[in-house]
Amino acid sequence: MSLDSLDPIVSFAKQRGFIFPSSEIYGGLSSCYDYGPLGMMLKDNVKKSWWQRMVQARNEVEGVQASILMHPEIWKASGHVDGFTDPLVDCKSCHKRFRADHLLEAKGIKPDFRPGSWLDAKIPCPECGGELTDVRKFNLMFKTQMGVIEGEGNDIYLPPETAQGTYVNFLNVQQSMRKKIPFGIAQIGKAFRNEITPGHFTYRTREFEQMELQYFVHPDDAAKQFDVWKKIKEDWYLSLGMKKENIQFRPHDEDELAHYAKAALDIEYNYPGMGFKELGGLHNRGNWDLSRHQEFSGQKHEYFDQETGERYIPHVIENTDGADRATLAFLIDAYEEVEARSGEDGKHEKEMVLRLHKDLAPIKVAILPLSKKEPLQKLSQEIQSKLWYTYQTQYDETGSIGKRYRRQDEIGTPYCVTVDFDSLEDKKVTVRDRDTMEQERVAIEELKAWVDEKFQK
Ligand SMILES: [Zn+2]
Repeated sequence: MSLDSLDPIVSFAKQRGFIFPSSEIYGGLSSCYDYGPLGMMLKDNVKKSWWQRMVQARNEVEGVQASILMHPEIWKASGHVDGFTDPLVDCKSCHKRFRADHLLEAKGIKPDFRPGSWLDAKIPCPECGGELTDVRKFNLMFKTQMGVIEGEGNDIYLPPETAQGTYVNFLNVQQSMRKKIPFGIAQIGKAFRNEITPGHFTYRTREFEQMELQYFVHPDDAAKQFDVWKKIKEDWYLSLGMKKENIQFRPHDEDELAHYAKAALDIEYNYPGMGFKELGGLHNRGNWDLSRHQEFSGQKHEYFDQETGERYIPHVIENTDGADRATLAFLIDAYEEVEARSGEDGKHEKEMVLRLHKDLAPIKVAILPLSKKEPLQKLSQEIQSKLWYTYQTQYDETGSIGKRYRRQDEIGTPYCVTVDFDSLEDKKVTVRDRDTMEQERVAIEELKAWVDEKFQK
């Protein structure tokens, strides 16, 4: 279905325990969010699935987890200290702050920040019409101090991307794991960017989580590997049920490319009310990263090919996806309002079904005793305890069975197991499928195997 804004998703996510505003009882903290019980499981399933596809199912890919606090020289080598800035201007009257490039773009002027050119454009404050200051470069990295003494030389940055924590471990991984080119190093981790204009729910936040793979290749192999990873990337989203019409690839224009980049594209999702916006990216970064770390660290970052005798600095294909953006996109994509379909206890015209892929669904199986009578509770709990070491389950005994089915449909639970009075006699339960609503009688003894089969790849 198509929504025309994120609003229904934001309110659904809060009401159903997926995503809450951060620090809400204190009035919230701008564009920070907390994942609730179901949201953290959904996001965790997104990350697990990504890791299975990109790392676990490939012999040539390894994983790392770098520390968040890293040597500050890394961010000089990466170019972030000098170059990771937004051009900001302040209003001299109302003191509001704006992105100069956004103001120029809104006037149809291509941003150009050669000295004086901003002032020549003579753009007034969009809020009050007042005079704006000259452009200042505002670094997007969060800065903090390490150790007990404040002052020069102790500045530490929170990583604006996980990639650098991977590059600085290139030699360690290559040597300890005896890797031959081509090989990859993946990392899932937090990144922080002090954006001046975050927004659109969890689409753009100052703290976010990245799923990134750096794939090290021979320079001649880079273009081919770029296409290989493009396919793997698209397949991953589609295999988890994302609708094909809602994703697209957008190659970067010449002037969007970083000066060292050979090629780059975004994979975009059609977010409600926003249109196609970035979900992840794929970049052919040349040998920029490793050669910069070679230069700044003084450590050779060359790879020696024993078969050909060739020595070179590997090129990098970077495959990056946002864990929060992917989680949001899967949530939106699965959200569906349908005509009332459960029949009983009227009153509702519309129902909601969250058609998440089975692998992503936070709760895999709900256990629903038909009544709160003790023998049914006891049997239900026995059944649940046979499943819960393998599957996330939920036990629910309140409300009519129709209402409980709807509750599970709304949070995307693929299977509901109903334990009724017949179950005490025939040792069978009714299993209901979220999407087809078909019901099947399954022997309790075979239930675990039945569920296993449904979740088998
Ligand atoms: Zn103003």
